[in-house]
Amino acid sequence: MNSTLPLAERYARFRDDVFSGLDESPPLAGFAEPMTELHLQSLWFAGEFGSEFQGTNGERIQIRDFGEWNAGAGPDFRNCTVLINGETVSGDIELDPDVRDWERHQHGANEAYNQVVLHLFVDQPSSDRFFTRTSEHREVPQVKLDPALLVDGLARHRMPAPARLGRCSTPLRQMSEAAVQSLLEASAQYRLQRKSQRLHRVVAAHGREQAIYQTLAQTLGYSSNQRPFLLLAQRLPVRRLAGMEPVQREALLFGVAGFLDATPYDEARDETRVYLRQLWERWWKHRSEFTRWTERGYEMKWNLKSLRPGNHPQRRLGALAAMLAAWSRVSSPLKQAAAWNRDSWTTSLTSLLHDYWSLHYTLHSDAAKRPIALIGETRVQEMMANVVYPLLMPERPALWSEYLELPALLDNQKVRRAVLRLFGDSPLAAAFQKKLHHHQGLLQVYEDFCLEDHSACDDCPFPERLAQWQ
Ligand code: SF4
Repeated sequence: MNSTLPLAERYARFRDDVFSGLDESPPLAGFAEPMTELHLQSLWFAGEFGSEFQGTNGERIQIRDFGEWNAGAGPDFRNCTVLINGETVSGDIELDPDVRDWERHQHGANEAYNQVVLHLFVDQPSSDRFFTRTSEHREVPQVKLDPALLVDGLARHRMPAPARLGRCSTPLRQMSEAAVQSLLEASAQYRLQRKSQRLHRVVAAHGREQAIYQTLAQTLGYSSNQRPFLLLAQRLPVRRLAGMEPVQREALLFGVAGFLDATPYDEARDETRVYLRQLWERWWKHRSEFTRWTERGYEMKWNLKSLRPGNHPQRRLGALAAMLAAWSRVSSPLKQAAAWNRDSWTTSLTSLLHDYWSLHYTLHSDAAKRPIALIGETRVQEMMANVVYPLLMPERPALWSEYLELPALLDNQKVRRAVLRLFGDSPLAAAFQKKLHHHQGLLQVYEDFCLEDHSACDDCPFPERLAQWQ
């Protein structure tokens, strides 16, 4: 708990922590998934709720600058610019799960909150109206965030559909291959457009360079650590890191990630000690700046279960550091769609090297005998699917034909399940797993129909609707 906070605020946070459980808060209205305050703030800061709102008093509110996510005591976001009914105001933004948290946390009596120009919340009591006032008795405009504003709602945690052949497999077998191809191409294009909308919201909120950086960072988290990589990229924006000395940058990345505090220097191997010493010499000077991020509920939570050594987040963070060291080469082809060249970008990524991380899986492992690729071809494909094409396609639609040629990524459990349910052991299963867009199209159908179905296929409308696709 941050000892620089006023006592009452410290206690309020402590109390909330105690009652909200160790890891997760109960679901908030409109969200199917348990939502922590940290996750809400991350979604807001990523621009996922959009940038134009109506205030609770009917004001027209537009976010011009999302500011900086505050790493210390005080309001959540500093130095923001907001247009309220056409008038530009600059100041801080506070985001709370419940409108009453403002008073529960005593922000209304705390001068540190006097510069707040906007109070965001998700929940409010149905009966009473709660106003937000500063210690100077200034009323603060409020916005109630609606989960429906999120492009895809919130990725809901849904149980996987059973691994068995589905009712749609019969009409799919009766369709021509050309019809199945066009179905999957269409659902893949729909999926790509949704990714594109989300990504361009981040561009609108934080600029293109930050959007590129934070979405590439997310792909380095694989499926289990995307969120901590996003948080890290939000806490350490590219404009802060890009011009730094590499070792200084790595000190911040590994320090804010929590890996330096968690790695005992005395037990480290020789070459790791040399590396750690360089990072620690720089990190301790900045550590106090990031105290908020070490509070319970705000610290980075890495998922280290069942990871292959090459996917350990420490090694992935080493890859991010190497990417940032070659940032101009990595980001320039993505800044203008006309500059994009798939082969040269792939080479730029797969040839990245790092003195320490090209030879180590973690800060605890022995050195490898030979360098190991920091970013392999599969990871580059993943970046293309989730960052490059969603970013560039609206500006250069002709890239769609290039996208259609991308080979399939390694499959995962979700893809395997979708294939089994839709195709079973028919020849379609092999024919429609060769390209990336096949997988993406299958995943979209699986998520739209299989995960929404609770009738063992009986009430699913997909099989009957397939006749319209012929
Ligand atoms: S739920 Fe619908 S789409 Fe999924 S396998 Fe069953 S019939 Fe097919």
